[in-house]
Amino acid sequence: MTYRVQEFLARRRAEGRDTGPCLVVDLDVIRDNYNAFARSLPDTRVFYAVKANPEPAVLSLLADLGSCFDTASVVEIEQVLAAGATPERISFGNTIKKERDIARAYQYGIRLFAVDCEAEVEKIARVAPGSKVFCRILCDGAGAEWPLSRKFGCVPEMATTVLEHAHRLGLIAYGISFHVGSQQRNPRMWDAALRSSATIFRELAERGIHLAMVNLGGGFPTKYLKDVPAVKAYGQSIFKSLRKHFGNQIPETIIEPGRGMVGNAGTIEAEVILISKKSAQDTMRWVYLDIGKFNGLAETMDEMIRYPIRTAFDGDEMEPCVIAGPTCDSVDVLYEKTPYDLPVSLEIGAKVLIEGTGAYTTTYSAVGFNGFPPLETHVI
Ligand SMILES: *Cc1c(COP(=O)(O)O)cnc(C)c1O
Repeated sequence: MTYRVQEFLARRRAEGRDTGPCLVVDLDVIRDNYNAFARSLPDTRVFYAVKANPEPAVLSLLADLGSCFDTASVVEIEQVLAAGATPERISFGNTIKKERDIARAYQYGIRLFAVDCEAEVEKIARVAPGSKVFCRILCDGAGAEWPLSRKFGCVPEMATTVLEHAHRLGLIAYGISFHVGSQQRNPRMWDAALRSSATIFRELAERGIHLAMVNLGGGFPTKYLKDVPAVKAYGQSIFKSLRKHFGNQIPETIIEPGRGMVGNAGTIEAEVILISKKSAQDTMRWVYLDIGKFNGLAETMDEMIRYPIRTAFDGDEMEPCVIAGPTCDSVDVLYEKTPYDLPVSLEIGAKVLIEGTGAYTTTYSAVGFNGFPPLETHVI
């Protein structure tokens, strides 16, 4: 957590505005992250994955820094345009789009679309003629803490057919995309997907279709409890794989960082509502916070993301606790299968700081489950 965030929270407390949990996002950290991506992957364009945190101030900062944007809906496209980005800096990267939304995006000037099957190609050919399309290929997400399963992408062999179909329908068969899984802690995980991409490039070239671009997706990690490699290590590993599989014909590349761009810029301050045990003999304390799965911490689903939690008692003796949220839903438990060490001296009413919460928190917050408001956000 930065000094600016600390100061902001102290002021909020002093002014008695600390009535509920809040997220504070430090724009200086996002600027540093953007510059680190630009430096570590110098020939790659950055398309920020808007869903990670679409706060207007975050989008305008990135637009000013020269970033492009990966969007998934018409509303995200409108948010990015409102932040000052021009349409040629926006991709419609969701492979699942309504035809009328593609048409709307086309009216806004968007000309770059993701596909992973022929039916989606046909929609684009009908309402966004002449646009560029890239085909997403499946990636198993091994090594990622938040893997993206089989929902998006097709097998590499099918990508060839899909892009050929696009070419036949007058679209520009532009490239390949993949996502190695979010919070990918292994920089070498891009290699297999780049090998498949190069094969698709060659096969299509034999049929006279020349792809231009590889979209390397997101997956760049942010620091939670465990250390993660620096962006530089990802840049080096990706460049090595590009050389290995594409030789001296390295294609244009783009990345779509979400978590890696904004994760470590955010800190949530929350409060301990209750500490209790389930029986007189029980040794395990249950610590209930005023934040849970429904007002910001959805990524604790299956205990996948383990956030660093700081308290004012951190030097004291620690003991494993179950941590749960405030709502009346029994799935609103953050850490139970693997209990979380908290100080024995932690008390009801104490504040806790949950770090690394700049990505995938506010957007996952319910509108008012049990009357708890969506997560309050401050961008500083
Ligand atoms: C969510 C998403 C991203 C961002 O992924 P991170 O792991 O947060 O970097 C990038 N590309 C696409 C297509 C996405 O859906």
